[in-house]
Amino acid sequence: MTQELDKNASPKLGGLSYLNPAAPEPWASFIEQIERVRPYLGPLERWIETLKHPKRTLIVDVPIERDDGSIAHFEGYRVQHNLSRGPGKGGIRFHPAVTLNEVMALAGWMTIKNAAVGLPFGGAKGGVRVDPATLSKGELQRMTRRFTSEIGLIIGPDRDIPAPDVGTNAQTMAVMMDTFSMNRGSTTSGVVTGKPIALGGSLGRQEATGRGVFIIAREAGRHLHIPQEGARIVVQGFGNVGGIAARLFRAAGAKVVAIADHTATLANEAGIDIPAAQAHAATTGGLAGFAGATPIDIEDFWQTPCDYLIPAALEGQITPERATRIQARVIVEGANGPTTPAADDVLHKRGILVVPDVLANAGGVTVSYFEWVQDFSSFFWTEDEINARLERIMVSAFDAIWLVAQEKQVSLRTAAFIIACHRVLEARAERGLYP
Ligand code: GLU
Repeated sequence: MTQELDKNASPKLGGLSYLNPAAPEPWASFIEQIERVRPYLGPLERWIETLKHPKRTLIVDVPIERDDGSIAHFEGYRVQHNLSRGPGKGGIRFHPAVTLNEVMALAGWMTIKNAAVGLPFGGAKGGVRVDPATLSKGELQRMTRRFTSEIGLIIGPDRDIPAPDVGTNAQTMAVMMDTFSMNRGSTTSGVVTGKPIALGGSLGRQEATGRGVFIIAREAGRHLHIPQEGARIVVQGFGNVGGIAARLFRAAGAKVVAIADHTATLANEAGIDIPAAQAHAATTGGLAGFAGATPIDIEDFWQTPCDYLIPAALEGQITPERATRIQARVIVEGANGPTTPAADDVLHKRGILVVPDVLANAGGVTVSYFEWVQDFSSFFWTEDEINARLERIMVSAFDAIWLVAQEKQVSLRTAAFIIACHRVLEARAERGLYP
């Protein structure tokens, strides 16, 4: 998700594209999602408060020398929300809207995601409040190195393993891996995932999140009898998640009728040529100016009739107000936290199926897990092996969550949270309190 940054400062949103002032703070949404699981926890309810208190929160000052000789300071975070089931795992976000509240929620969602899919990790997340597009290459590298050194106190291959998120990519991970290794005096490839292949990265990692979104959408479509061929797709976010999911949908015969990124919102009833749009975005930095579709209003975008709506940008996009106007059969959450709890209720009442982030976008962290395992064993798998294992894990997680949703008559989100909270709190209870 490296393309999701705002380069065209909009005064209305304080220059932060996709930010939705109408949405609640992300941590409040996370807490509400946890509360909805309370009635289903049985004796484990005793431990539920654990999930409302991040285990460890580190706030760091990140000073750098700018190219002009001045000194700039940025605020950075690493939150380890829960470590009951294993080391922390979750991405690093570089974005001007990063706050502690947001990173706490993102870390919490990682705890749930890793447990829902069955990966042996806790949940963590990090970020720096910075617009990387405003830094030179050298400044960005110094900022990344200083941030890595600061959070080096708590990360490590057996402690907490960062990965890319919005505004970071394989190159960021290369710099983080190098910095950690230099400080330690030995090459430690397993300290981050999502690295370049030459540094122990995994084949298939870069497109894993988008591929997972596609697999999960296909599984949901199977239950709702939506054929891939000719399905209408709308995608918000055209980076590493939305762009790749759109490409896979198109390759399967679906029609992508509307796309949006931080530079433009576009539609084409005949179906957008996704590889052409990706090539345009890669050369110009965004979708603005792409000739193969027509600009539309953002609110029209949200009410475009479609089979699958895929929010793949930032949190808080689908508010109750937008939820009343959405005309999709299924929403597949490529982003983390795009739907507010109140909007979830509106969609549920309207019979629109929401496949939650903690399942739909878990493909990225699943292949991160494969990367971490490969780094530890120094034995690397083929791309076919990676994709086959990813498919197996995603499909079986989908089936388990679908079953719980049916049995308990709850949304897929609540079902995923029920499964995940049981796993985390059972581990918590088995370990017991120290001292
Ligand atoms: N940032 C991605 C996520 O939100 C991937 C995290 C990881 O691979 O650790 O799931």
